[in-house]
Amino acid sequence: MADPKGFMTTPRQDWPRRPVEERVRDWDEVYVPGALLPIINKQADRCMDCGIPFCHDACPLGNLIPEWNDLVSRDDWRAAADRLHATNNFPEFTGRLCPAPCEAGCVLAINQPAVTIKNVEVAIADRAWELGFAPPRPPDRLSGRTVAVIGSGPTGLAAAQQLTRAGHTVAVFEKDDRLGGLMRYGIPAFKMEKHHVERRIAQMRAEGTKFRTSTAVGRDIGAAELRSRYDAVVIATGATAWRELDVPGRELAGIHQAMEYLPLANRVCEGDLDVSPMSATGKHVVIVGGGDTGADCLGTAVREGAASVTQLDIYAQPGAERDEDTEPWPTYPKIYRLSAAHEEAGALGTAPAADADARLFAASTLRFAGDADRQVKSLHLVEVDAERRPVSGTGRTLPADLVLLALGFSGPDRTDGLVDQLGLAMEPRGTIARDAGFATSAPGVFAAGDAARGQSLIVWAIAEGRAVAAAVDRHLTGSSRLPAPIGPHDRPMTV
Ligand SMILES: Cc1cc2nc3c(=O)[nH]c(=O)nc-3n(C[C@H](O)[C@H](O)[C@H](O)COP(=O)(O)OP(=O)(O)OC[C@H]3O[C@@H](n4cnc5c(N)ncnc54)[C@H](O)[C@@H]3O)c2cc1C
Ligand code: SF4
Repeated sequence: MADPKGFMTTPRQDWPRRPVEERVRDWDEVYVPGALLPIINKQADRCMDCGIPFCHDACPLGNLIPEWNDLVSRDDWRAAADRLHATNNFPEFTGRLCPAPCEAGCVLAINQPAVTIKNVEVAIADRAWELGFAPPRPPDRLSGRTVAVIGSGPTGLAAAQQLTRAGHTVAVFEKDDRLGGLMRYGIPAFKMEKHHVERRIAQMRAEGTKFRTSTAVGRDIGAAELRSRYDAVVIATGATAWRELDVPGRELAGIHQAMEYLPLANRVCEGDLDVSPMSATGKHVVIVGGGDTGADCLGTAVREGAASVTQLDIYAQPGAERDEDTEPWPTYPKIYRLSAAHEEAGALGTAPAADADARLFAASTLRFAGDADRQVKSLHLVEVDAERRPVSGTGRTLPADLVLLALGFSGPDRTDGLVDQLGLAMEPRGTIARDAGFATSAPGVFAAGDAARGQSLIVWAIAEGRAVAAAVDRHLTGSSRLPAPIGPHDRPMTV
């Protein structure tokens, strides 16, 4: 570290967000462009180089955080980019989208605000592109082995890049018309603009990875045929089978799943549609589900010009501080967090019936009611206690013209037939079963990412992609020098 007293003299400063009134009028990322670079060297200098870097352990990729903090504080962007890319194929994705369990594990966070690790990561990633430190890295020689990767989300992309760079001939099959998985048609552009995905795809094409879009394996091409044509197959199809809300009135028009709604808004941003057919414009919107998917619906509905937006969370409002008895440092604490979308909805007063951030906590939906045309018009809810028992006298009704269900996902979507055609063994919870080497019950077929782990995070998806690539490389060649940051049964210590 350039200044050993940096953590005492420099307060934490995050990448500032644009004013709410400005950013809700567009779909661009919420941060002030150009405002990170001038502050980031001093922020990196807050790293204490504490000797046992719990941050490094808390990151599923094992990112070498203290090393690149030091390099950034010394303005050595080339070396920082090298150290970052040594463990992370796509740091511009995690630097924007990761909930940063590393920061919860930062030693400074024991009694002070953590180092802005995620901001340092994204600064290095963006600077690496700007300065030409992220060129394509095609292999020196080809192995003559072929691999089909099914799915182009962060898992499939990381696996494909690692295997291509190891010399294998890799084709990625994607059922959507564009590449990127949930980063393309789930996560809104205001969290990550899509040109970041495009730039990595261009890098991967230049390295030799082939992509086939609009090709659903199991439907457009048989899974068994694919298996016979390639030396190995990696299933990275995600976990998008959504959970339902089985209450009276669910069948009314105007009640949709979050992942029916969000992709249409993404398609407007891509220029495919002028207006989303599910647009929230002028509507009273209620989002059922308190997680990040719900927050993405919130930010999207605000930008579409909803009359009001309320997000319901069945859990009680968490406290502002870590509970040291149940969630001691360095685990990831369940504390109250204000995402950019909550900040926007609160500042604009979009949900007069809810708390200041547009959320209603400890709220359970009992039923929907509609009009004569069977269009939803209201949602009836009740407050619940910690055991989810209704609290008497707390029933209330919210106006609702558009209801979005964001209740999580149970496992891979099986409608394409891929799982059944290969006769894959499944886990009781609905994910694809695999052994300690990421191999499924079908010889030569491997599974990684949300499809096998269950709905998770980008950082875990990239770690899974890197690890499955090492397993496939070993299967094809007998050994592998590719890094495997995690095992298939590792679970987050934190998130
Ligand atoms: C709305 C939303 C917001 C999120 N926000 C965040 C966030 O901010 N930060 C974070 O860390 N995580 C976030 N997540 C979670 C994160 O996006 C996922 O954990 C991650 O994308 C999983 O990567 P994956 O590659 O395993 O699967 P996916 O990203 O789901 O990609 C799977 C791909 O496989 C394709 N596919 C499926 N079946 C077939 C088939 N038969 N043939 C060909 N292709 C097929 C799909 O079309 C898709 O493109 C969010 C999730 C959602 C739903
Ligand atoms: S990937 Fe996530 S956990 Fe790892 S260093 Fe980046 S922000 Fe932290």
